[in-house]
Amino acid sequence: MGKLTREIVAGSVGALLVLAVLLGFDLSFLILPASLVVLLSLIRNGRPNLLQGDLGLGGLGSNDDSKIPLVTFEDIGGQDVAKRELLEALAFLKESDRSAQLGIRPLKGVLLAGPPGTGKTLMAKAAANYTGSVFVSASGSQFVQMYAGVGASRVRQLFKQARTLAEQGEKTSAIIFIDEIDVLGAKRGKNHSHMEYDQTLNELLTQIDGVKSEHPVKILVVGATNRSDLLDPALLRPGRFDRVVQVDLPDKKGRWQILKIHAKNKPLAPEVNLEQVAEETYGFSGAHLENLLNEAAINALRNNHKQIYPGDIRDAIEKVMLGEKSNRSPQKEELERVAYHEVGHAIISERVRPGAVASITITSRNNALGYIRQNPQVDQYLYTKEQIIGAIQVCVAGAVSEELVLGQRSTGAVGDIEQATDLAKRMVFSGLSPLGIVSSEVPGNILHETISQIIKEQELAVKGVLSSLVGVIKEIASYLLRQESMDGEEFRALLAACVDVS
Ligand code: ATP
Repeated sequence: MGKLTREIVAGSVGALLVLAVLLGFDLSFLILPASLVVLLSLIRNGRPNLLQGDLGLGGLGSNDDSKIPLVTFEDIGGQDVAKRELLEALAFLKESDRSAQLGIRPLKGVLLAGPPGTGKTLMAKAAANYTGSVFVSASGSQFVQMYAGVGASRVRQLFKQARTLAEQGEKTSAIIFIDEIDVLGAKRGKNHSHMEYDQTLNELLTQIDGVKSEHPVKILVVGATNRSDLLDPALLRPGRFDRVVQVDLPDKKGRWQILKIHAKNKPLAPEVNLEQVAEETYGFSGAHLENLLNEAAINALRNNHKQIYPGDIRDAIEKVMLGEKSNRSPQKEELERVAYHEVGHAIISERVRPGAVASITITSRNNALGYIRQNPQVDQYLYTKEQIIGAIQVCVAGAVSEELVLGQRSTGAVGDIEQATDLAKRMVFSGLSPLGIVSSEVPGNILHETISQIIKEQELAVKGVLSSLVGVIKEIASYLLRQESMDGEEFRALLAACVDVS
């Protein structure tokens, strides 16, 4: 009987039974036989559905992926070191005979570790493409179930599926990609409530140990995680995931390459300078950059442009950084305050580092009523005392500017104060404050006093600069109130026309 017919019959019988009960018939004599029928049907169909979850080959997320993926290493921007390390690790699949001759123990697992959206899945797919391997993927969370044994059986099924698909496709190798492997491979004994997690991890270890070089289908397990620190040491010991490849956020060159890859199918106006976009997007992952160009294309569509213009990209950067524009409409006085605040930040930012302002706006996005975006000129990982002090000055400049123009500060500086406090704290714990080198146990009151002192000094310094520029602040703010936003070039031209602040 087909599934549909069975469902129709079951539904009709159910409806008749309900009708009979409503009409007052006593059907209690049917309870025992009905229970028997249900039980027999469950036994015939294997485990109850409840336990099955999304079990089944498709359930482990591989239907479409199980062919050789089309992604190649050329589709991955940046990540030169990670790509090189992965390619080295793949040599044993690519040149298995030579590796065997040299007596090289086959590599069973590679762990890709790094922040979200940096291309770990892409790398695993490119690895499958490069080695001509079948690609089977699953996510750690798919293995973790409330019911004992289900996770472990899914692990077995995944390995079996990889071998079967490779044999069916007449391939000699398969790559099993397990995303979020920390969910399934966290340190054993952490989940005290039940042993299901531990059983699943034990099964994974057993399966990895069971991968034999003489088997006609060679298997490589590629795990991906954002939290390699959570992994059970047994997973990382040699013979299992003995290669850990770090896949970090891209640097400027990497971002530029990623932007070029994702701009291939997009009509960019000649004025668009992707190198500059890469410069302005410090801290963006590959996924952010892909999303940024997509948002820019959507902006172009909304603005009825035939090509993507720098303005479309600028809006998209802000959207990716700060979220969608909100439809809050502040009062005129509030908007003026926001404009004075942002112009204060911008003037000091430009004074601290000429060319630093990328854009200023008083359009609200998420919680921000306005903001300035700064360009990091180069990717930077270490900061000097002078640079931290400069950053604190930029933070406090908004509130100081409001005070100088309007006579009072507002609650708009909460985020700035938080940032300034964090920076001052960093100064203290890096031994750059007047306290010199301190331990992490420095008493709370001394820490508080030192932080306040650092911030107060910078407020005074900023007041000294801005108090002679109140007219300039007002003039630039009135332009900003008319335009809503301006880019760094416009701001610098306006500022230069008003005064030389350097
Ligand atoms: P997660 O840890 O969240 O699973 P991930 O590191 O596996 O993320 P991917 O799924 O590989 O990230 O990347 C998501 C998308 O971001 C890709 O489909 C691609 O569009 C883009 N992307 C990420 N990194 C790169 C890169 N290095 N080059 C080109 N595109 C990238």
